[in-house]
Amino acid sequence: MVTQYKNLINGEMVENGEWLDVVNPANEQVIGQVPACGAEELDRAVAAARAAFKTWKNTSHEERAAACMAISAAIKDNSDELFRLLTAEQGKPHAQAQGEIFGAAGISKAQSTLKLEDVINEDSDQRLSRTRRVPVGVVGGIVPWNFPLMMAIQKIVPALMSGCTIVLKPSPFTPLTTLRVAELIADKVPAGTVNIITGEDALGPMITSHPGIDKITFTGSTETGKKIMEGASADLKRITLELGGNDASIVMPDADPKKVAEQLFWSSFQNAGQVCIAAKRVYIHEDIYDELSQAIAEYARNVKVGDGSEQGTGVGPIQNKKQYERVLELIEDAKDNGYKFLTGGDKDPSGTGYYVPITILDNPPEDARIVAEEQFGPVMPLMKFSTEEEVIERANNSEYGLAGAVWTADTNKGVEIAEKLETGTVWVNEFMHLSPFAPFGGHKQSGFGAEYGLDGMKEFTYPQVITIKKDNVVA
Ligand code: NAD
Repeated sequence: MVTQYKNLINGEMVENGEWLDVVNPANEQVIGQVPACGAEELDRAVAAARAAFKTWKNTSHEERAAACMAISAAIKDNSDELFRLLTAEQGKPHAQAQGEIFGAAGISKAQSTLKLEDVINEDSDQRLSRTRRVPVGVVGGIVPWNFPLMMAIQKIVPALMSGCTIVLKPSPFTPLTTLRVAELIADKVPAGTVNIITGEDALGPMITSHPGIDKITFTGSTETGKKIMEGASADLKRITLELGGNDASIVMPDADPKKVAEQLFWSSFQNAGQVCIAAKRVYIHEDIYDELSQAIAEYARNVKVGDGSEQGTGVGPIQNKKQYERVLELIEDAKDNGYKFLTGGDKDPSGTGYYVPITILDNPPEDARIVAEEQFGPVMPLMKFSTEEEVIERANNSEYGLAGAVWTADTNKGVEIAEKLETGTVWVNEFMHLSPFAPFGGHKQSGFGAEYGLDGMKEFTYPQVITIKKDNVVA
């Protein structure tokens, strides 16, 4: 009998007698079941969130912060159980699962300090004008399967801190850790403020079009993001969309291959490449291309691909079968076109589990599918470039604009290039670092709006301007 994980609605853990299986991608075994919810459960969750909003919107910053700190503590205090569960459902190696669990606890704590202060627009002899931020109401949160708990938390916490209540839907592939956290926090946050319900993809559009929901905050693919924007237009719901990316890393000729090889490797292969902000196109200056590409391939040969719960695994399986098949298709396409591989290129022979060998391509053309499309798997195309102008143009030649990185001994040059990249985030000499206080959002088709920091929190609020005429002609 597999463990059944219940949903959180109005402060209670509930189920409806219908279940969805959740599979461990490392061995394809069913490891848990979650409720298969539809319109009826969604209506109940939205009603609970609406009722809770009436009081939650009037709470003080301190009350909201206390709830978010309780969430942080619940995650941290149970980190051992949670990271093992996360590896089992998502596939990422234990150390990376620990990173996500502690990251979720840390973000909850850090963001519980965020406060949107009133802004004085005018304080003249005639009038006092002040902008305050008021919560939008009930938020619908929809999250993907690559960082299931982190993505859930980065929606729940700013919603609560801004005075909103939330109905959150995890990905059907990875709902277990989130539902376990739901159970842990059920009696720590006021009933109805946080509701978590599970269902197939079809539950997503029901959330998007539900009249009792005022805002959608979504992380997932660009394709689904477009559908959400369309669905939300019926009643002009507010939306925040964190979507796909095809991030470029640029390695300048003054970078030391021995020093950057390992970091570049992990910028692409963290979480088996299933990271929106992974380096998915790596441009290396021709002067150091041969040495650096060999150094990366050499490093890769010593990284173990396997079950994330096994000691020493660096790269786990792909999270689900659909994505596994998509990544294999891109690799097949590269083989059919005769592109050269430094590592990988063959299907994993073991047969069970969604494993893809670490795949590094040697200078494929810019229009190769494996370069132009978001791979979202353990794949790293290395490309040669000659001039700064050329590489900036190639990096920007994408419908995406999520993040990017520049690697150089000359930090000023790094910043100069960073400012020319058309992305929401650019790192100079590091990768994937996100601050809970800095806005994170995509340019172009990588997103709409931002998460994190005060900019992210503002998206859960409306501005309300109160203007007082000082010369009171009514009295
Ligand atoms: P996805 O778009 O398939 O699914 C994401 C969520 O949307 C799931 O919960 C799914 O059930 C739900 N959903 C599916 N169809 C829906 C619809 N029509 N309406 C409403 N909801 C619907 O994405 P995924 O495959 O789970 O995740 C991978 C993608 O997410 C990649 O493109 C990746 O780059 C992106 N991503 C972006 C960020 C970011 O912050 N920008 C972070 C992580 C992942």
